[in-house]
Amino acid sequence: MAGTAFEELCMLCETLAKTPSRNAKIELAARFLSKLNSPSEVSDAVRLIIGEASKDFTLNLGYSHLLKALTNITGVGEKGFLAEFGETGDLGETVRRLLEKGRRGVQQALVFRRPTIGEVAGVLREIAEISGKGAMAKKLRILESYLKRLTPLEAKYFTKNLVGEIRHGFGEGLMEEALASAFQASPEAVRNAHMVVGSLGRVGEILKEQGAGSLQSFTVKPLTPIRPMLAEPAQTLREALEEHHGRTLLEYKLDGARVQIHKHHSQIKIFSRRLTEVTKSLPEIVELAETFRGEDFVVDGEVVAVDQSGRVMPFQEVMKRYRRIIGVEEALSRIPTRIFLFDIVYLNGEPLLKKPLTERRQLLEKVAPYEFLTPQVEASNLEEAEAFFEEALKAGCEGVMAKRPSSPYSPGRRGKHWLKIKRQPEVLDLVIVAAQYGYGYRYRWLSDYYLAALNGGGGGGRPETLPDYIEALHGWRFRVVGKTFKGLTNAEIEALTERLKGLALETVGRTVIVRPEIVVEVGFSNIQPSPQYSCGYALRFARILRIRDDKKPEEADSLDRVKQLASKKLEG
Ligand code: AMP
Repeated sequence: MAGTAFEELCMLCETLAKTPSRNAKIELAARFLSKLNSPSEVSDAVRLIIGEASKDFTLNLGYSHLLKALTNITGVGEKGFLAEFGETGDLGETVRRLLEKGRRGVQQALVFRRPTIGEVAGVLREIAEISGKGAMAKKLRILESYLKRLTPLEAKYFTKNLVGEIRHGFGEGLMEEALASAFQASPEAVRNAHMVVGSLGRVGEILKEQGAGSLQSFTVKPLTPIRPMLAEPAQTLREALEEHHGRTLLEYKLDGARVQIHKHHSQIKIFSRRLTEVTKSLPEIVELAETFRGEDFVVDGEVVAVDQSGRVMPFQEVMKRYRRIIGVEEALSRIPTRIFLFDIVYLNGEPLLKKPLTERRQLLEKVAPYEFLTPQVEASNLEEAEAFFEEALKAGCEGVMAKRPSSPYSPGRRGKHWLKIKRQPEVLDLVIVAAQYGYGYRYRWLSDYYLAALNGGGGGGRPETLPDYIEALHGWRFRVVGKTFKGLTNAEIEALTERLKGLALETVGRTVIVRPEIVVEVGFSNIQPSPQYSCGYALRFARILRIRDDKKPEEADSLDRVKQLASKKLEG
């Protein structure tokens, strides 16, 4: 059976964007969904309409790469593209307008058969799944050749799904209602199923395949994995305490692998964070779970690797076991593990998702012996929280989790009910020595910054690259160690642009070399030996944490400190 054209879905989205009434929107979408041919088509359509696709498959395409592909197919060059983008502020709409100007629509529609909803979702999945060496180039090649086949309208919604910005005023809440209406289910049942499976695309698929009745009993049940609840990062303990209104439950944040242990009568299954079954890789955990009290249960926790003396080992050790083929070798090379449980979502016939965390923890304590529970305390002031944080770090944890005592268990959701606070990473104070105009809506702003450390000597060769040239222009007083456009708010970038323009020394293409006066505090994930800059080091994933107007450039961190941190990171 031929699938429904993607173009129809695009037209629906256009209409949804223009329809102000909530009920009318729901009806339009419901009518569309009820006409679709198969469960997988419903699933794909739901994902494409609300942009769930981009959440499901991480495309990992850098913005500048995407921009390059889009400029290539629209054929107007970067300047033309950015000018149009400045007007619409919407990447998808920009692509449509530019393609229309080139009057590509008619031609495309004649040359190629129109793609179906299933095909478009398939291409997005294909792009997302490419990994390994040369992945980015491959992704872009597919992307460009596919975009060329699309009409302007199709390209608009394809692009929107790539970047995950849908913006037609039709989000998850409305989609829940539309699904309910399309398949004669109650909105409550749809919301509930969404909570359990964590994907509206999947809920739509189930509705089409099994009908509304199947949702009535839809809740967590043993031996069927549910999406684990996730946490949002918080910078400080104070922030977490404030978010949880002065009272929070702190737990060790263990660095291991998430597992869900299901027991139904005498059968035990263990699932990973991605819901794959890993029972056979963890026989000792199965044995342990057999001793827990409770006929049927689903408990949630973290499995960590330990050495012979019971000390926690790095995460990679656990991962090795997941990948290994199960067999004698496996048994021989057994790495001892330890389980730390922190939640329970089902017990003896009763789903517990809606119960507050405090109650769930009490039930968990009845099921599993104390030694297998994640250490937890209630903190109602900063001193208590800090003391526990210290204790967690000493025990080898990467930080703590702060959980709202009254919170339900929301499968698949990342929210503020659970906050993760990690050990404060090392930061560097660096000097902005040059800045580049940005992309997209930032094209008017100097938003990409060259960051430099104080030079202790060295350098001075013939400049071969732009960073070399910047260093030379500053008499080699500073050495570039990174570049970033991350961390500042738009307002900060705008203000910084003005300041930097006032410090301009020379403009090279889109880059403005400035007097080295502004010091910024920079966070990063790693420092790597790298030929990218002539000092031999480069910060990975640098982001500006704040502008240090209290610091003079000569008080910035030195290249020696950068080197020290690099060797520390390499060891640990
Ligand atoms: P992250 O992977 O940094 O987003 O952190 C979330 C992960 O931390 C969860 O998926 C768990 O695997 C892990 N984790 C470690 N300790 C806990 C805890 N006490 N509560 C919840 N998750 C935890």
